[in-house]
Amino acid sequence: MSELKYDVVIVGAGIAGPMMARDVAKAGFSVLLVDKKAAIGSPKQCAEGININVFEKYGIPYDKRFVNREIYGARIYSPSGYTAELRYKNVSGVILERKVFDKMLAFYAAREGADVWPRAEAVDVIRENGRVEGLKIKREGELLDVRAKVVVAADGVESTIARKAGINTYAPPHEFDSGYEYEMLIEGFDPDIIHLWFGNEVAPRGYVWVFPKDEDRANVGIGINSDNPKTAKYYLDKWLREHGISTNKILEVNVGLVPVGGFVKELVKDNVMIIGDAARQVNPMHGGGMAEAMKAAAIASKWTVKALEEDNLKLLQNYTEEWWREEGPKMEKLLKLRRVTEKLTDEDLDVFVQILGGTDLEKLAGGKYTEIIKALLKNPKVMFNRRRLSLLKELL
Ligand SMILES: Cc1cc2nc3c(=O)[nH]c(=O)nc-3n(C[C@H](O)[C@H](O)[C@H](O)COP(=O)(O)OP(=O)(O)OC[C@H]3O[C@@H](n4cnc5c(N)ncnc54)[C@H](O)[C@@H]3O)c2cc1C
Repeated sequence: MSELKYDVVIVGAGIAGPMMARDVAKAGFSVLLVDKKAAIGSPKQCAEGININVFEKYGIPYDKRFVNREIYGARIYSPSGYTAELRYKNVSGVILERKVFDKMLAFYAAREGADVWPRAEAVDVIRENGRVEGLKIKREGELLDVRAKVVVAADGVESTIARKAGINTYAPPHEFDSGYEYEMLIEGFDPDIIHLWFGNEVAPRGYVWVFPKDEDRANVGIGINSDNPKTAKYYLDKWLREHGISTNKILEVNVGLVPVGGFVKELVKDNVMIIGDAARQVNPMHGGGMAEAMKAAAIASKWTVKALEEDNLKLLQNYTEEWWREEGPKMEKLLKLRRVTEKLTDEDLDVFVQILGGTDLEKLAGGKYTEIIKALLKNPKVMFNRRRLSLLKELL
């Protein structure tokens, strides 16, 4: 059995892993990035929508090879068919091609000096004298011992490595959404905006989405609470049937869990760090995790580089502290909002979308949900309903 040594070994080449590998390698440290997939990025488990601002913010080239379609806004649909639309003059987001995007992120890491191994599964941690000294990695059938000063679990929602290293990542099933998606031919929807349908019979707790990748091709998917007695596929197929959309022109089926809560308190244990979906760093309202994975990777990289430069691994703990200080309050508020929206009836959703439809949504956009609450409080349909008022009070 061969033995290898790195400063940092990262498990998972989705979004968080390659971003961190790139930044740590760029600072001159030796990094190994491994993924069990034979082709990085494939299969995807994602609707591929992301805000335009991440490219500049995280130094990612705006490359047409993975920017599949530019998006100018969103339209939401209530159970009875009321709509509210937010449309910008400029590009507000993009639908990526994740099979290319994830692979290119790993390529940028390789270009900065990181070693990248696909078809390499981390099967266990190497533990000596109570301390994690590296990982046991099965690379194309060969079992290797990889030693590292820092071990990073960027292994996604089903993460095993953090748990093996003794980090508690448990969250009850209710804190996860089940996602089911078809990339398929679909016509009749404005391909320059994303479309979201809400309703307790449409998508319990979540929504149905159409994220256009072409004039007539889109990721059409659904997220629902994973402890629902019915499956996400049941609700998606029902929605397609009700909209007269054939299920005979499907190019891909994508399935996956989305953490929508259950944030991990301790993101570092000794020399082991956890980032991205593995740490439940996902927006609990809309289930988007790519931008959050990038943010976590940026903070974790910063402290890893500092810890290695100063030869003081205690500095890694600052990642937990900085993430909770910078992202924690926003995520906790969004979680509270998610818990309140779970209690909305279809009638509430109709009222909500009607009110949004008559509001300047551009002013409300940007995650300032207190602005939405103010708009709702001004409306008599909310003000004269005791239950709705008490739901709003839960948020204040
Ligand atoms: C149906 C669906 C739709 C979504 N839509 C969106 C969206 O539109 N926008 C958005 O922002 N987010 C979306 N998300 C969430 C988004 O996909 C994740 O938040 C994001 O991929 C998290 O990145 P990550 O790097 O943490 O994990 P991942 O991208 O999941 O990467 C983890 C990687 O680790 C690898 N791995 C796991 N275990 C091991 C092991 N033991 N050894 C080696 N490799 C291992 C896996 O193969 C995988 O490549 C969606 C999720 C789902 C399920």
